[in-house]
Amino acid sequence: MKRAIVVFSGGQDSTTCLIQAMANFDEVHCVTFDYGQRHQAEIDCAKILAKRLGAAAHKVMDVTLLNELAISSLTRDNIPVPTQVENGIPNTFVPGRNILFLTLAGIYAYQVKAQAVITGVCETDFSGYPDCRDEFVKALNHALRLGMDYSLELVTPLMWLNKAETWALADYYDSLELVRQHTLTCYNGIQGDGCGECPACRLRANGLNQYLENRPQILKDVKRKLALA
Ligand SMILES: [Zn+2]
Repeated sequence: MKRAIVVFSGGQDSTTCLIQAMANFDEVHCVTFDYGQRHQAEIDCAKILAKRLGAAAHKVMDVTLLNELAISSLTRDNIPVPTQVENGIPNTFVPGRNILFLTLAGIYAYQVKAQAVITGVCETDFSGYPDCRDEFVKALNHALRLGMDYSLELVTPLMWLNKAETWALADYYDSLELVRQHTLTCYNGIQGDGCGECPACRLRANGLNQYLENRPQILKDVKRKLALA
């Protein structure tokens, strides 16, 4: 039995990871972290999508303690979301988030005997988050294997894809419209194409336009990069 855990926010990236996992594993569990996001809509969106895409289980873990420790514009209403991606680390960065999330997902994987934890982190559109780097994920993977004496694999299918290529991956699984209409990536909590103003919406829209302008070529590139048939 091939079993995987998908770290699932209900956004474009993790939804694309879930769609791919459903095609490659016998059983897929979703884990969504509730850390007091400003938008409960994110968690509701994740619940609906996990069910719709056929996840065997969907666990929402309460990690509101992260909100007590980490202050960012994603967890506080009085810190405005930046409209431009600034130099350095943006104020949407929640320190320790992926350290905590991937560790908890790893523990859950151990409990349900899953071989893989899949996460949609990506270094290509590097928005300044140090815990999205390949080097960090590999280091944590090593630590989790040692710490649990369990041959867990942290899998990052999107690590070297840009946003246009992530759209191509959804398209490869005939899910471009599903991802476009039913996921929530916007920092202002608006599903689908979002507010159009925040950095997440801009990144997403730019990637989609880029993909649609050059669809056959980008799809071909992604198939080659990920060794898809
Ligand atoms: Zn937005």
